[in-house]
Amino acid sequence: MFCYQCEQTAKGTGCTKSGVCGKDPDIASLQDTLVIALKGIAAYAYHARELGAHDEQVDAFFAEGLFSTLTNVNFDLESHIKLLFKAGEINLRAMEMLDKAHIERFGQMEPTKVQVGTKEGPGILVTGHDILDLYELLKQSEGKGVNVYTHGEMLPALAYPELKKFPHLVGNYGTAWQNQKKEFEEFSGAILGTTNCVLIPRESYKDRMFTCGIADLPGVVHIENRDFTPVIEKALSLPPLKENIGPTTMTGFHHQAVLQIADKVIEAVKSGKIRHFFLVGGCDGTRSSRSYYTEFVQKLPQDCVVLTLGCGKYRFNYLDLGEIDGIPRLLDMGQCNNAYSAIQVAVALADAFKCGVNDLPLSLVLSWFEQKAVSILLTLLHLGIKDIRLGPTLPAFLTPNVLKVLQDNYNIQPITTPEEDIKAILG
Ligand code: SF4
Repeated sequence: MFCYQCEQTAKGTGCTKSGVCGKDPDIASLQDTLVIALKGIAAYAYHARELGAHDEQVDAFFAEGLFSTLTNVNFDLESHIKLLFKAGEINLRAMEMLDKAHIERFGQMEPTKVQVGTKEGPGILVTGHDILDLYELLKQSEGKGVNVYTHGEMLPALAYPELKKFPHLVGNYGTAWQNQKKEFEEFSGAILGTTNCVLIPRESYKDRMFTCGIADLPGVVHIENRDFTPVIEKALSLPPLKENIGPTTMTGFHHQAVLQIADKVIEAVKSGKIRHFFLVGGCDGTRSSRSYYTEFVQKLPQDCVVLTLGCGKYRFNYLDLGEIDGIPRLLDMGQCNNAYSAIQVAVALADAFKCGVNDLPLSLVLSWFEQKAVSILLTLLHLGIKDIRLGPTLPAFLTPNVLKVLQDNYNIQPITTPEEDIKAILG
C-alpha cells in the first residue's frame, strides 16, 4: 500500500510510518479508498463515453477527487469521508449513464436462456465488459462462418436485442476470469479480451489471443479502431471447434424486466411465498474461501430469491434453483455495473411496501476483488444501505479506525460461514 501523505510504502493496514512523517494513517486509508473508487468509476465512465454518453458531474469529480489526494492539501478527516460518499453518489450517476447508453444502443435487456458450451465450427471467444466491442465484432464477422461466444462478464451481452439478432452469437463458454488460463487453453478458437479481468496468457494460446481498447497484454496482438479482421481471420485459419454442448443458464434480469413482474413479486411476498431476497454477487477471485458463495446459495431455504450480478455469479449460476409462482429463484441482473438495476429493484420494492430499503426483506452478501466493487460499495453506503456482508475478507486498505466507522454506522460485516450468516439473517 502506498501512503499518499508521506509517499512511503506502508505494510499491512494503515501506515507503519505514522509518527515518522507525522501524517494520519486514517487519512491515508481514506485517500487510498478514494483513488481505488475513482478507478472503478472510470471504468463505467469510459464504457459510457465509448457509447457517446458523458456527464459533466462525473467528469468534474475525477479532477476534484484526485486533486484532494495531493500531498499536504487536505488534513481533515471529515471532508475525506464526505468525498468518499460523494464518490458513491457519482458512481451511481456513472452506472445510470452506462445503463441508459447500453439500452439506447443495444435495446432493453431481456431475460434470455443461454446455451453453454461450443458448437462445431470456427469460433471466437470474447471476454471482458465492453459490449460495444462485441457488437462491432458481430457486425464484422456476420456471414463469415464463424461462431461467437461470450466468456466471463460478457455473458449478459446475450440478453440485449441488438446483439441477440446475430445468429452467430451462439452462447457462452467458460466461467469467471480466474479460470481463463485453463478455459482459454481448452477453447481452440480465437480469443478477444476487451477489458479487465485479463490474465497474462499461456504460450499455448498466446498466438490466438487478441486484445482491444483498454486491455493490452505483452506479446498479444492489440486491435486498433475496432477493426477485428485479424481476429476473424485467425478464427477461420484454426481447426474448427468440436461440438461440446453443456446446460443452459439464464441472464438478462434487468430491473425493467423485474419491475414488469413487480405485482407478482409483491403478491408472493405478501402471501409469504417469498420470505427473503438476497443479492449475492460481485467480483469473483481465486481464494478457495469463495466457495462460501456457492454454499450460501445452495443452503438458502426454498422460499428465498437470489439476485446476482458480476462474475461472482459463476459460483452458483449453474444451479437449478427453480421458481416461486413462476418467479425464477435466481435472477442474473448482468454485469457489475448492473448493480444499478439491483438498486432500482430495491428502491421500487421499498416504494411498494412503503418502507425504507433497510426495512425490506433484502440482504446484500457481496464478494469483492477489484476497484469497481469498491465504487459500488461506496454507492450503497451513499444510499444509506446497512448490514452488508462482505467477503471473502474485508478490504486491507481500511485502517481499523475507518473500518470501525463503517461498522458502527452501517453495520458492514465480514462473511462468516453460510450456515451462521443465513441463520443470523433469517433467524
Ligand atoms: S466482475 Fe470484477 S472480477 Fe469479475 S471480471 Fe468484472 S471486474 Fe473482474
